[in-house]
Amino acid sequence: MSFKVKFWGVRGSIATPSPRHIGFGGNTSCVELKVGSRVIILDAGTGIRNLGHWLLRRNVMRGDIFLSHTHWDHINGFPFFSPAFKPDRHFTIHAGHLSDRGGIGQALQSQMAQPFFPVPLEKMGAQIDSVDFRAGDSFNLGDQIRVRTTALNHPDGATGYRFEYGGKSLCYVTDTEHIPGKPDQNILGLIEGADLVIYDSTYTDAEFEDHVGWGHSTWQEGVRLCRTAGAKTLAIFHHDPDHEDPFMEELEAEARQLWSGAMVARENMRVNLL
Ligand SMILES: [Zn+2]
Ligand SMILES: [Zn+2]
Repeated sequence: MSFKVKFWGVRGSIATPSPRHIGFGGNTSCVELKVGSRVIILDAGTGIRNLGHWLLRRNVMRGDIFLSHTHWDHINGFPFFSPAFKPDRHFTIHAGHLSDRGGIGQALQSQMAQPFFPVPLEKMGAQIDSVDFRAGDSFNLGDQIRVRTTALNHPDGATGYRFEYGGKSLCYVTDTEHIPGKPDQNILGLIEGADLVIYDSTYTDAEFEDHVGWGHSTWQEGVRLCRTAGAKTLAIFHHDPDHEDPFMEELEAEARQLWSGAMVARENMRVNLL
């Protein structure tokens, strides 16, 4: 039994390939879960490019990609996901926010249609299936992996996930905006007692007041939610592109001081739950 997590992209909004971001990483959202024999990919931001090369080297033939939503920073690595260009591979893409709006397949096709990209989705080569569900649904993925979801508070919608396997649980909650003083009950329910919660921590509480309505949250709200829900560990995630390494180091020290269960996600960081 294994339940392993690796962060391939931790940045929010736009990739930041600069020397001042190298410590925490410049690629946008992409997290790999190795759950038993299954590979699960959370979001297809620019981090999925390096993950794709790694999956090719390991000869991984299939995987499930769960998208929080389809803003650019969560999908624009997909056209560069090299295993999708191999005819013998099979990927299933799941999303919970588009069942009434044309579906995830069509959204990804639009991203790869002219004049935005020269290779249409259908020409990638691999078998690519899409599955639309409604945020709030729960389902079994097979191989004893249970998935729970909830709707997040984000422009155009987004889905939060909880994956359960072997008595361990991981939650992926990005992108979402909180209302100060009113903890999001959907999220509290989703993350209750979780072993690891990856949370939209784009801003600090001090920065938040200038960004109300932008669809993002703060690392302090992540700590408050995790403590209230009895979650064990928080991974501060979806870092603001303007938060350079020295700022993030200070933030990390402050977060650890506030709650020993808090850590800051870095590109290439691994967490083993099982
Ligand atoms: Zn985002
Ligand atoms: Zn977004």
